Amino acid sequence: MPLELGMYERRADYKSEKQCQRTSLAFYQAVRDLLPVWLLEDMRATEAFHWEDEGRACAFSPSEALLYALVHDHQQYARHLLQRFSVHALGAPSASFRCCAHSATPHVSVAVRYNRAGILKMMMDTLKDFADAAEKQTLLNHCGCAHAEGGKSALHLACDLARPECLLLLLGNGACPYVTDRAGDTPLDCLLQQISQRDLDVRAKRVCLGYLVLFMPALRFRMRAELRENPALWSRLIGEQALQWLSGQCPPSLFVQCMRKVTRSVPDAQLETLPDFLRPPDFRLHQF
Ligand SMILES: [Zn+2]
Repeated sequence: MPLELGMYERRADYKSEKQCQRTSLAFYQAVRDLLPVWLLEDMRATEAFHWEDEGRACAFSPSEALLYALVHDHQQYARHLLQRFSVHALGAPSASFRCCAHSATPHVSVAVRYNRAGILKMMMDTLKDFADAAEKQTLLNHCGCAHAEGGKSALHLACDLARPECLLLLLGNGACPYVTDRAGDTPLDCLLQQISQRDLDVRAKRVCLGYLVLFMPALRFRMRAELRENPALWSRLIGEQALQWLSGQCPPSLFVQCMRKVTRSVPDAQLETLPDFLRPPDFRLHQF
């Protein structure tokens, strides 16, 4: 019957590629405009679809919604998604949200890239819900694909972009500072390269350096030879005391050694246990 045919066509159109583009844009804009959580979840459950390359209309998963919340810093929505769906909200999104099959689960890197320390803190709290410690480590330390993320971990990214708050959150929650990227560089190597290349964000980079030293009892990194070969340059860039520690000429100060013990002895090195003067942006390596 014509009426039924018409209804059928409308329903088919509801999930056509074009219609999906329209509804996914509307959902994106709704998150961007920081609309209330209940409205966003209503949209996600009933009317917002995105189109996948294999010719399929898909509803937005909690993980995909969390990516939008991260991009637009919608903290209430991020909190809701993490509380309601726990670690599932940190699961892999569908293919159209990732660069390629080798691309890591992107939430932690996206949080660092956009400097969303508030939501990153919520995500780190959620990691405690992982039953398997190995899963948590994979999520924290995974290096991204070669194209979009340069084979870097979230810690590398925090050093490249000089994001002290994100760096401290990652280190404090067990991210490994010895992970190497595809070039064989540790996060400390990346940070030192950043310090030597540009004068931007000098203060933030020094704070990052202080945190890395705090969480790296064994200073294993490639740039050490470079520091020893050009002491005058590096003394100017990072200060004489930091240069001596990093190049292995003298042990770190008693203060740094004490703080290393404190951060190690606290379960999961909870940031709340650190005194105020150690929190960004007040901690400066050269002061101690
Ligand atoms: Zn890729």
